[in-house]
Amino acid sequence: MSEALNCKIGQSCFVSGNEAVARAVWEAGANVAGAYPGTPSTEIIEYLSQYPDIYTEWSINEKVSMEVAIGASLAGSRAFCAMKHVGMNVASDAFMTQTLAGVVGGLVIAVADDVGLSSSQNEQDSRYWGRFAHLPILEPSDSQETYEMIKKAFDISEQFDTPVIVRLTTRICHVKTRLTIKNDRIEKPATGFVKDVARWVMTPIAAGKRLPLMFARDEKFKQFSETTELNKIENTANKQLGFIVSGSAYMNVKELYDEYPIFKLGFSYPLPIEKIKKFAKLVDKLIVAEEVEDLVETELKAAGIKNIYGKDILPKMGELNATALKPAINKLLGKKDKLADIKINQVFPRPPTMCVACPHLGPYFALAHMKNINITGDIGCYTLGAGDPWQAMDTCVSMGASMGVALGMDKGRGKMDEKKAVVAVIGDSTFLHMGMQGLLDITYNKGNVTVLLLDNRAVGMTGGQTNPGMGKDLHNEDTIRVDFVKLCEALGVKKQRIRKINPYELPTVMKVLREETKIHEPSVIITDQPCVLVDAYDALEPLTVIDEDCTGCGNCLDTGCPAIFVTRRETVTKPTGKQKELAFVRIDEAICTGCKLCTKPCAPDCIVPVE
Ligand code: SF4
Ligand code: SF4
Ligand code: SF4
Repeated sequence: MSEALNCKIGQSCFVSGNEAVARAVWEAGANVAGAYPGTPSTEIIEYLSQYPDIYTEWSINEKVSMEVAIGASLAGSRAFCAMKHVGMNVASDAFMTQTLAGVVGGLVIAVADDVGLSSSQNEQDSRYWGRFAHLPILEPSDSQETYEMIKKAFDISEQFDTPVIVRLTTRICHVKTRLTIKNDRIEKPATGFVKDVARWVMTPIAAGKRLPLMFARDEKFKQFSETTELNKIENTANKQLGFIVSGSAYMNVKELYDEYPIFKLGFSYPLPIEKIKKFAKLVDKLIVAEEVEDLVETELKAAGIKNIYGKDILPKMGELNATALKPAINKLLGKKDKLADIKINQVFPRPPTMCVACPHLGPYFALAHMKNINITGDIGCYTLGAGDPWQAMDTCVSMGASMGVALGMDKGRGKMDEKKAVVAVIGDSTFLHMGMQGLLDITYNKGNVTVLLLDNRAVGMTGGQTNPGMGKDLHNEDTIRVDFVKLCEALGVKKQRIRKINPYELPTVMKVLREETKIHEPSVIITDQPCVLVDAYDALEPLTVIDEDCTGCGNCLDTGCPAIFVTRRETVTKPTGKQKELAFVRIDEAICTGCKLCTKPCAPDCIVPVE
């Protein structure tokens, strides 16, 4: 439970940016909020769901959560949706139209960029959306500002008849800082939907009429940006340098360089160009410190400001922390970079791995042992199948892309791939998010693709959130449960080509995979065991290895279960003269859940229940 939930007016709590967002959305009187889980923004809706008087949901994807928020806004409610940066790509179809149509109830979108790529496939900069969609971008630097800006964003949304983006980053979302509570919830009852076809039915004629209004709105934003207290100058006497900075980079600049003037951008699009021009004249060298693209720098240079330094001295990717800022600024100042002399000892790298007894281990063991196969992958824990020991994923592009990429590989195959099977691997949540349409495309276009649908009854990667495949909603209340067999059948897969299997039954997994990949038509293999981290998972008694019977074959290690560890390695020479590496193993009984997967490839049957 979030500390902010029960914090009274005037009290302080120590909360993450995500908790601050939730508290602020509730205080602002929003009536509806939706999201699809995605690091680093997942917890926003989880926290918000704990507050009373607001409808919250896990939507099946970001586009739907955006549309739910749009609908609520049109009904006259304040509305909110949250997503990670790549989620905005999914939601943008609806969003790019709604920026033209405008809002009724305030509509705020929190977009969380994964600066530093902690858990994402790219590092795209969501500030672009402001430029693209002609709407304001607000950028807080800590939990207090996040709280203030979310509430301000609702006011701006209603004042200017526009959706507003509050751009967060991983650092803001996850780092806990002090938050002082200023208000209770302000009730904002829905004003009711007012039919207005010319506005809400965005035909070309209607859009043509809205475009001039959108451009006029741009001018109002520019004026607002020049005067708002969200853009502020922190002046100092030393004018050798000056910084223009926003988001979490502000905290780093403030900590390292508070002897120099700082222009803190809170309302970072449109830029307060005139205010910045005056600021630029105050300082000798103006450093634009922005995560991650050079948007502000480019626009300021285009506005004729000359004394600017930015991505020519600062890193073009990752966070602008002390390690990134100091060498660049020292060089600019002609100072010796003390950091350069410090030898940084890297901790031993620990690659991510799947959990002990994860239901994906069996299918990946099987895929890794198949020959003549191209495997298109998707986004989820199972993306780790690309790594060791399986190396059983060949592509991963975006949510649901395993389907279309597989069909493309099938249709575009050349002689080299003629005999290869194409397998698309996708999890249940990703399938419901954006994969279903791809499967329909496969069946509609008679693709020769086998889909391996890993139904673990949760959004495993982000912490086991519910989805329509679980029969539970965000509030853990009973709801419909998608029947994947029926769904795949409805999407055009023949009944006999849909096989449901237990992923721990390795011989069956391997047999069914071989059978379905030999048949030249769409097929779906559904695994049906839960993620070990959800309530539905039942752990069994742990297993152990009979040391003296272990031959060191290492087959059990190929499952990738982290409970199995090597105790000693040996190299032996076989009668043929070939050398063979042996790995003798044990099982960490404290974490083994007794799934028995590793017993299947163990020829001497030396993996047995603990006595
Ligand atoms: S969270 Fe669940 S699905 Fe993800 S690796 Fe762990 S057990 Fe597997
Ligand atoms: S039985 Fe084997 S595969 Fe299953 S959790 Fe234990 S060690 Fe891992
Ligand atoms: S599969 Fe069996 S014999 Fe081979 S290393 Fe594992 S425990 Fe030992």
